[in-house]
Amino acid sequence: MSQSLHDLILSRIRQLGPMDLGEYMALCLGHPEYGYYTTRDPLGAKGDFTTSPEISQMFGEMIGAWVADTWVKLGRPNPFALIECGPGRGTLMQDALRATKNVPGFHDAMRLHLVEISPTLKAAQAECLSAYNPIWLDTLDGVPDMPVILIGNEFLDALPIRQVKFDGEWLEVVIGADEDGKLHPGVRQADATLISILPRKILEEQSQKVFEISPDLNTYVRNVCDLIKTKGGCAIFVDYGHAISSCGDTLQAMREHRFVSPFEDPGQADLTAHVDFENVSLICGALKLHASNIVTQGDFLKTLGIEIRAELLRRHATPDQAEQITLALHRLISDDQMGTLFKVIALCHDREIELAGL
Ligand code: SAH
Repeated sequence: MSQSLHDLILSRIRQLGPMDLGEYMALCLGHPEYGYYTTRDPLGAKGDFTTSPEISQMFGEMIGAWVADTWVKLGRPNPFALIECGPGRGTLMQDALRATKNVPGFHDAMRLHLVEISPTLKAAQAECLSAYNPIWLDTLDGVPDMPVILIGNEFLDALPIRQVKFDGEWLEVVIGADEDGKLHPGVRQADATLISILPRKILEEQSQKVFEISPDLNTYVRNVCDLIKTKGGCAIFVDYGHAISSCGDTLQAMREHRFVSPFEDPGQADLTAHVDFENVSLICGALKLHASNIVTQGDFLKTLGIEIRAELLRRHATPDQAEQITLALHRLISDDQMGTLFKVIALCHDREIELAGL
């Protein structure tokens, strides 16, 4: 199967010349027949990578508490659309909804919407979330006309990026092929439209280091902002990334929990890049919506009470389970694990609303 996507990419490069990273990433992740996400369940010990909700139920429970608190602060809209972008196996949502079942009126008011491209993951979501009658969407276009609370964990990092750098002129990283058909990165002159969307400080810096920009992410965040603006509500994104726009090559490929080359075996590894949270915040601000502070995952989860939750869970656990809970907590909140690298931002139509943990 990998051979087919490789062949397809190679023939496009031979016909049309080197391909930009955005197109390459979109094909590797989302090609309807051979794409990474479209052909498998990538998560968990047997998969290629793991995520916070797969590490511990406590993560989804904290997000559930945040969503319910936000819903109350929004004035308990009924009905409202609870939307998750890229729900993976549905684990986060399952934990969040179990944690909120005693919030009066919350479940009755909720209309669950899942935005997912992977048929395999849709099936996994159906299995654990069917009791909540979810509606699946391919894009945000089909969201009904009601207030929204939208969540995305490790979703934005999967949106295709492009890379530029300055060397006497602006260059873009592109994927070419040698005579044997091996794919490799190179550069070509960058087109003016791409350069026109770089942050001003990056333009002025003219660094020889790579800067990553994602027109797809920009469009997605703008669409989320439009939703919030027209229907009212909030969105929260959790992902690895940086709080300040800065240079650096963060494109990575993961397969069986190891880093591999992004250019070998296209479609067989998860490709991601760190999210530029300052950029997300600026997009939101430019549309006159409120962007929260950008906080670390560790601080966010601790403010929401994850340590107390861990303590409660440990009280009813066997010694082995208690140790697992402690280890999972450490992974989620410690500086040397996911606590600092991962960041959280929320976007809201109303700047008066005080969002928990942000
Ligand atoms: N949120 C989950 C899964 C993260 S992996 C977790 O934390 O465990 C990324 C998820 O986004 C997968 O479900 C993948 O299939 C989905 N995805 C990737 N690109 C997408 C797109 N363009 N539209 C909708 N879903 C997408």
